[in-house]
Amino acid sequence: MRILVTNDDGIQSPGIAALAQALAAIGEVWVVAPDRERTAVAHAVTLHKPLRVHRVAPRTYSVNGTPVDCVNLALLKVMPKPPALVVSGINKGVNLGDDVMYSGTVSAAMEGTILGVPSLAVSQEGQEVFRFNIGATYAARVARLVLDHGLPEETLLNVNIPDLISSKIRGVRITRLSRRRFHNPIIEKLDPHGRTYYWIAGKRISWSRSKDADHEAVEEGYVSLTPIRLDSTHHEAVAQFRAWEDVVAGRGRPAVVPKSNRRSSKQVGK
Ligand code: MN
Repeated sequence: MRILVTNDDGIQSPGIAALAQALAAIGEVWVVAPDRERTAVAHAVTLHKPLRVHRVAPRTYSVNGTPVDCVNLALLKVMPKPPALVVSGINKGVNLGDDVMYSGTVSAAMEGTILGVPSLAVSQEGQEVFRFNIGATYAARVARLVLDHGLPEETLLNVNIPDLISSKIRGVRITRLSRRRFHNPIIEKLDPHGRTYYWIAGKRISWSRSKDADHEAVEEGYVSLTPIRLDSTHHEAVAQFRAWEDVVAGRGRPAVVPKSNRRSSKQVGK
């Protein structure tokens, strides 16, 4: 049973080493990962420069590309046959709520899913020190379950592990995504020449509509497992927008959006 391991922190990250080691007890691990840190590149693919695959050890390859490049190259070129499972991580830092939109770790698992291979993303809470051995233990347990039972179609699992020693972890929760954004996300500074420059940074703030969200789970000391599906269509909203069809087609009068829906974007407010 072959397992592809990748990440967005780069092939030298201790997180990917811990993950590969734990999964080696389950299957034949292949590592194909970026040659440097590519955090927050989301689902980027490299289109305008050549990609090089460099073999650094048996079944271990670095790529001068993004996590999504790595999954594509691994599945379609490097590995003799597609793996039974793709596991991405273990990321330095959680990927909760809206983080999944930016995360290279989660996007790698998404790409595995797109290519038809059951996939999971694993992220470890921490500051400077990360307890990757704890994350690896949970990742291996989830991996075994996925290999035995599969995943629903077009669905990946996003796994987050709290920064706690084993005995302090309170359990595991199946969760939904929280909202997780930044307060004052753009820092403005002056360089030595008096020109303005910017850092995208700011303080992370999180909130959730429900108690069963990933942010709450990790904060309360639980390992969080969130099933994420590729189809992000807002199925319940489709009918509401039908009235727009004729208007956008230039065949009718402006449709009136029901009042109750006008404030929907405010519900997630600051
Ligand atoms: Mn990362």
